Amino acid sequence: MMRLFRRPKAAAPVPPESELARRLTDPDYACACCGTVLRASTGVIHPAAPFGWSNPPPPRPDAEFTGSGRELLTENYARHAGDNLIRAYLPIPVKGTDASVFIGVWCSLKTGNHALFRAAQEQGDADRLGDMFSWLYTQLPRLTGPLLTKGIVAPYSKGRRPVYWITEERHPFYAAQQQGLMATEILALYEDFGHGEVVSHLKA
Ligand SMILES: [Zn+2]
Repeated sequence: MMRLFRRPKAAAPVPPESELARRLTDPDYACACCGTVLRASTGVIHPAAPFGWSNPPPPRPDAEFTGSGRELLTENYARHAGDNLIRAYLPIPVKGTDASVFIGVWCSLKTGNHALFRAAQEQGDADRLGDMFSWLYTQLPRLTGPLLTKGIVAPYSKGRRPVYWITEERHPFYAAQQQGLMATEILALYEDFGHGEVVSHLKA
């Protein structure tokens, strides 16, 4: 019998949700087509600078961050328009797994807390500071999400990046942090932030 409709080779089926969730959260998962280890759960989204800072300079080493003065961007810290900011990870549980993805965000600390945090982070004992009030300086969802959302920064020991928890219940990602998102919803977020390449490796 003649085959009238051929399936083109490019139209590989998209893996089911459970498989996407596994690939997304397994730190050792290697792309099926090219073998790249994707580490897709942590820091795929990594905004260059806090919201409102267009065309930021290349970041300096953290050791060059000073307590006062001019605008400054380092690997993990920023001072811009009078605000003192840090990088944090915003965790979102992946539905159907015990794991989370970690979205890179910028958030604020009061001047005094910023100095305390930097000193403690250098000592490796920032966890003793406990939770600190913070405003979120990364738009979620990208371009349409609210800004200056209330939240807390939870510092960790050994210089590990702190995590950010949204406490404003009206923010769309408040529910996402409490209840999780489907893997496909997280991949859509990655695409919004311009990381479609990671998504295509995950789906390959
Ligand atoms: Zn690949």
